[in-house]
Amino acid sequence: MLIVMKADATERDIAEVERVITELGYRPHTMPGASRTAIGITGNDKPVDITRFEILPGVAEAIRVTKPYKLVTLDLRPEKSVISVGGDAQIGGGELAIIAGPCAVESREQVFAVAEAVRRSGARFFRGGAFKPRTSPYAFQGLGEEGLKLLAEVREAFGLKIVTEAVDEASADLVDRYADVFQVGARNMQNFSLLKRAGRSRLPVLLKRGLSATVDEWLLAAEYIMAEGNYNVILCERGVRTFTQHTRNTLDLAAIPAVQRISHLPVVIDPSHGTGKNHMVTPLARAGVAVGADGLIIEVHNQPERALSDGAQSLTLEQYEQLVHEVRAIHEVIAPAPVG
Ligand code: PEP
Ligand code: MN
Repeated sequence: MLIVMKADATERDIAEVERVITELGYRPHTMPGASRTAIGITGNDKPVDITRFEILPGVAEAIRVTKPYKLVTLDLRPEKSVISVGGDAQIGGGELAIIAGPCAVESREQVFAVAEAVRRSGARFFRGGAFKPRTSPYAFQGLGEEGLKLLAEVREAFGLKIVTEAVDEASADLVDRYADVFQVGARNMQNFSLLKRAGRSRLPVLLKRGLSATVDEWLLAAEYIMAEGNYNVILCERGVRTFTQHTRNTLDLAAIPAVQRISHLPVVIDPSHGTGKNHMVTPLARAGVAVGADGLIIEVHNQPERALSDGAQSLTLEQYEQLVHEVRAIHEVIAPAPVG
């Protein structure tokens, strides 16, 4: 159930609704909005008694939620969430968020060379995996904590916010310590204990869509994180498995408007994993911005031919620079900055 407060409800009215929810043994999730505050309820295994809330001061209405998810929906928060990543770095606001960097952190020389180009492009976020979920156990698994330390150096030197993946409890503790955004990879989208752990992180969470996940399953994964009290979730469409042979994955562009019709969460596109091919990344990045994505996550390498992972889909520094130029122009057309 969802309690919608009147526009003039006081802090006290809100606190009283929260108290009643807690007293019933459930968990309140208070979402302040531009025009009103709504309070989601989780933890109930049977329908909540609406009459218990309708009589409380400041309550406009109590709505029964019929969808499988509650906290991700526009019913709870009708305006889009803007996720603040510290300073003026945001995902979901008016600015197109660009997250760029190598697939994996390999060396100081590599991350510094790429970060310099990322900073120069005006992007605010740097990506790079220190813990890599690889198909083969013999493939490069990432530098671990040493990689996170290099990412922290990048933040220090370039002022970029760090987006990096956690794959289990131990890496989650380290990511929490060193990073700015906690990435949950496609292969872990239904790793429910990791989702709950991300829900207890102080960091915003970038949640990739699973390799064969439906939009509903993806949103329910976001719901897991939010139900733990972390409302700062960014969805990432990175392509799904289909029968095609011309791409690594099929980038599901229609998922963007599909999600935006249901959820207030920002959604970014990953055309690198979404195509797996260098020459397809820029065209699909353009398309992603054109369908209304809130941002892009792009793999970039100073020497793609030498990359320890995902070299085939990594852009060179020059290609990346050109991509940013193009996608900004498209974003400007479809979401012009307000004048004055
Ligand atoms: C990544 O971003 O490096 C990654 C492993 O992506 P995905 O989880 O989408 O495969
Ligand atoms: Mn990769």
